[in-house]
Amino acid sequence: MPTISTRKVPFLDLRVPENERKEILHAIDTVLQHGRLVIGPEVNTFESCIAEYCSKKFGVGMNSGTDSLFLALKALDIGPGDEVITTSLSWIATANAIALTGARPVFADISDDLNIEPKSVLNLISTRTKAILPVHYTGKVCDMNALQSISEEKQIPLVEDAAQAFGATYRGKPAGSFGQIACFSMNPMKILGACGEAGIVLTNDPSVHERLICLRYNGTINKEQCVVTSLNCRLDTLQAAILLYRLKNVSNHIDKRRSIAAYYNEHLVDYVTIPKEMEGSRDIYYTYTIRTSLRDKLKSYLEERGIEVKIQHPYLMCQQPIYKQYLKQPVPNAEKIVREILCLPIHEKLTLEDLDYVVSSIRNFFS
Ligand SMILES: *Cc1c(COP(=O)(O)O)cnc(C)c1O
Repeated sequence: MPTISTRKVPFLDLRVPENERKEILHAIDTVLQHGRLVIGPEVNTFESCIAEYCSKKFGVGMNSGTDSLFLALKALDIGPGDEVITTSLSWIATANAIALTGARPVFADISDDLNIEPKSVLNLISTRTKAILPVHYTGKVCDMNALQSISEEKQIPLVEDAAQAFGATYRGKPAGSFGQIACFSMNPMKILGACGEAGIVLTNDPSVHERLICLRYNGTINKEQCVVTSLNCRLDTLQAAILLYRLKNVSNHIDKRRSIAAYYNEHLVDYVTIPKEMEGSRDIYYTYTIRTSLRDKLKSYLEERGIEVKIQHPYLMCQQPIYKQYLKQPVPNAEKIVREILCLPIHEKLTLEDLDYVVSSIRNFFS
């Protein structure tokens, strides 16, 4: 028996390195000095920078990705009696945002790329369908050609849940550029992360933009007249300032993740199903998700060796107690895949020794 190493490989490490900390403290100090803590100038700059990055006209900063999705659907006037088709594999925020509008989430099956299966979407469309909400899961953009043609043919808007995919591209176009509306989360775990909760909604449509501004602040116009029931979902100026600083480094982070993914791919291809990138696309690897039928055994084996791995997510949204009754059609591929997925550590602070240790542990497990 080989001796068990005491090496620890964390799944995530959100501590801010020294050089970055100085810059962030400086950005915070600037905001503290000008004092416009609520919708200060950094919020507006952040909105236009992100919109430009994603080839959209307007951005509306929000206090989370969940609120971004919820208000995006509200901006399309989606509510009771309506249906929104989404994927079955995502963080539960996606389904919650739909259900909170009063609409019914309708769960489609997924493909081997872990993203929503366009044919399954087509089969689920009814007269009540008011939006299609694909999730660019793991940081890989969905089959947008197919989804956009369904959307155009059936005249049903697309709302992108791009929470995991900031900076990813598909046929040369960025995540967030495809839907009538696109939503991002900038929570600290995401590729472009704040030091707290944050999100943004993007659109090209001036009337949707106006409605989002209204919905974001208790459904008011000019902060005076309330024309629709809503919440306070504004993005903090402090988080916007931090995000503006981090936006400058985001492409380095993406490159680092992509090189880790390439390393894993090269060394694991003979042992597990590795994520495949479509030609012309650039995945950003919010998670590096492998598949194996020995998932649970492999997970314990790696954990015993100090390698923190995660199942994201162990339940499909349509398997959750609250959403079980919403399932319209079986999702056999999703049910199979959810038993096989495992996310390996992939973040900026991993060293080559860490990666080598992960790879050799997985190889040892299989041999
Ligand atoms: C993170 C995430 C959200 C929610 O974002 P929050 O900012 O945490 O509210 C929604 N959808 C997906 C796919 C996510 O990964």
